[in-house]
Amino acid sequence: MMQKKMNVPLFELKTQYAKIRDEVRKAVDEVLESQYFIGGPAVDGLEKAVAQYEGVGYGVGVSSGTDALISSLMALGIYRSPLDSNPPVEVIVPAYTFFATAGCVWRVGARPVFVDIDPVTFNIDASKIEEKITERTKAIIPVHLFGQCAEMEKVMEIANRHGLHVVEDCAQSIGASRNGSFAGSFGDCGALSFFPTKNLGGLGDGGMVISNHKHVADEVRRIRNHGMNPKYYHKSVGGNFRLDAIQAAALLVKIKHLDSWRDMRESNAKFYDSAFKGSDVITPTIIEGNKSVYNQYIVRVPKRDKVLAHLRELGVNCEIYYPVALHEQECFAPLGYAKGDFPESEKAAAESLALPIYPELSKEQLEYVANCVLKAVSEA
Ligand SMILES: *Cc1c(COP(=O)(O)O)cnc(C)c1O
Repeated sequence: MMQKKMNVPLFELKTQYAKIRDEVRKAVDEVLESQYFIGGPAVDGLEKAVAQYEGVGYGVGVSSGTDALISSLMALGIYRSPLDSNPPVEVIVPAYTFFATAGCVWRVGARPVFVDIDPVTFNIDASKIEEKITERTKAIIPVHLFGQCAEMEKVMEIANRHGLHVVEDCAQSIGASRNGSFAGSFGDCGALSFFPTKNLGGLGDGGMVISNHKHVADEVRRIRNHGMNPKYYHKSVGGNFRLDAIQAAALLVKIKHLDSWRDMRESNAKFYDSAFKGSDVITPTIIEGNKSVYNQYIVRVPKRDKVLAHLRELGVNCEIYYPVALHEQECFAPLGYAKGDFPESEKAAAESLALPIYPELSKEQLEYVANCVLKAVSEA
């Protein structure tokens, strides 16, 4: 029997904030009293805490996940000067991910080269990377989408064989691991996002580049501050990609709770997994060796748009991550791709549906969402 109508948001932060309000306010207040807003002890502390959490040597706080990707590429020398008359270098990215992964490649003056995804994990299909490598290829950006690692051993083997850089897009996957190693620890570096809806979310925008390589971390440190080192000397152009102390202070409070929030997300995922067993709802597959952090819980359903509309009527707020594969984005039309080029990415864009998965969902809300999804799918 259906429960009484409820309203379930896709994401809700107020419940979580209420539990940590005093800690967060105290930490932010300390920054206000210090009037030390850029860099400083809070940023240094967060860099150490995140590096330790991710089991890597170095963390460099930056202004967003997007800027983490841009500064990573620039730090690895992937940046086209306005005076460069050579054809652009190429960077391999999955065709199905958040826009920023490919947008950043474009913004440093390189050409995004798309690769289709593995329909099981929604991550880059490593078996399709090699056919896209040319003499201009400089890097691969695998994305650990929705909280689950890409098959990094395969990506790294190809990258090493061809001498390519690897920047991991870990925006959705802080704390995710594959065969015991954390997202961001496989390649040259990893890009984290602290956007409020990510697993570790700040009070606004923020991000971090994590790395096991000191020279990469040092270069990102220089790039995030206009490419300056020593002071007022610029051997290459960077940007203002710095992290605010207020963000770092709040994130230092929140990172202490990250494991427990992850566990709550996993338990919500397990609830859905069993609720949808035997139905037409295709639940996420976490492949052997992976530990997901469930930034999103993505199902595939037939007649997705009808199901989505029905769910919204029932008060269940779902979303489509992502409705358009990147090779079909208007801004990338000059790259010359066509519909049909990446069938799995296009299929994912047509079938995927994100359900509420945030840690503080109540048992009643979870049951209501599951019942409504089953109802909407059966009536679609
Ligand atoms: C959120 C996200 C980004 C960008 O992070 P911002 O902090 O919003 O700039 C990049 N890649 C992926 C996969 C993301 O989900």
